[in-house]
Amino acid sequence: MARTKLDDVTKVFTENDGNEIVAVDEVSIDIEDGEFLVLVGPSGCGKSTTLRMIAGLETITSGEIRLDDQVINDVPAKNRDIAMVFQSYALYPHMSVRQNMSFGLEESTDMPDDEIAARVEETAEMMGIERLLDRKPGELSGGQQQRVALGRAIVRDPAVFLMDEPLSNLDAKLRAEMRTELQRLQEELGTTTVYVTHDQTEAMTMGDRIAILNDGVLQQVATPLECYHQPNNLFVAGFMGEPAMNFADVTVEGDRLVADDGSFEYPLSPSTLEDVEGVTDLVFGIRPEDVEVALSGGSQNDEHEFEASVDVVEPKGNENNVYLRLGEREIVATVPGLQPIEAGATATIRFPESAIHLFEADTGRALHSRSLESIDDEMAARPSD
Ligand code: ATP
Repeated sequence: MARTKLDDVTKVFTENDGNEIVAVDEVSIDIEDGEFLVLVGPSGCGKSTTLRMIAGLETITSGEIRLDDQVINDVPAKNRDIAMVFQSYALYPHMSVRQNMSFGLEESTDMPDDEIAARVEETAEMMGIERLLDRKPGELSGGQQQRVALGRAIVRDPAVFLMDEPLSNLDAKLRAEMRTELQRLQEELGTTTVYVTHDQTEAMTMGDRIAILNDGVLQQVATPLECYHQPNNLFVAGFMGEPAMNFADVTVEGDRLVADDGSFEYPLSPSTLEDVEGVTDLVFGIRPEDVEVALSGGSQNDEHEFEASVDVVEPKGNENNVYLRLGEREIVATVPGLQPIEAGATATIRFPESAIHLFEADTGRALHSRSLESIDDEMAARPSD
């Protein structure tokens, strides 16, 4: 187990024509001993490069990586006490599962053979693959191969696990199962883990904290709920959540927000106005589940209510995504599955002020986030079982 610290880590690739690509740009993250950190971001944002630099598979252009107090920039990969699990499993096809799992220990330690054998058996049991030990990878399903790849990392009892999209080749159901199992295993083993994914559901459900990258630049490192409810900037707000947060360009006029396309005007309370710090060009944001939708008229003089028409209803069973038209603008709302709303209907929608986000248009910086107190109030108002 080890604390893993990245200080201003940068990676610049130089292409054949001399063109430079900054894949990772001064990234600093302090990963606590035993923490499960998920590194997430869109394709090409630098996740794998960051992981490969921690593993020692890629050199570092500048900055420092430490395992506990030791700077490991120049320590060869095989001496880093780090085990990596890849999306592609990377099992040796001609070796049995047992050989695949024992190979690393045989190569990198002087552990006696009987101890290696016992550790492989014990780990195989933990992973539920003890009956597969004498099979070759080609005789296993994708899910079983991934268990072997994980088992091979676990058997080494490393200081740090690095996982690069390890579940993406599995079908949705198996992926959900393995997600829970991996979390349980990581908690049981207490090994510091850095897990790369582009899937924000994995990030939300698995990590103690999430680090969000875009274009090689770190956007936010925080708990999943903080990233979701109090995003640092427009990028994080738009990246986390499906369907994505609704956004509108607005201008502050007096104590009101006026949408640039004229679709709505929205008065702000003095405390929200104070958060805006006199910035006039803003982006207004509200998550689909915070948009309230009612079919019979609203409360008449609530200035946070607007009349909209229902374009499309996308039923998902437990909830529905409702696509509404407010002027020329599309607004997505997520409502309970049994709420009767049909395409073509006229609806009253409400944006509660406690749930809105405001960002500076120029920089994307968050100036005001939804109140978490209102979430506490909602929880308290729920009938107890
Ligand atoms: P994905 O989710 O698609 O795997 P990623 O977030 O892991 O993406 P990286 O693979 O780290 O992204 O790549 C980051 C950037 O660095 C990309 O622009 C990529 O094209 C570039 N890159 C990665 N490896 C090299 C290389 N060996 N030579 C040149 N450019 C590279």
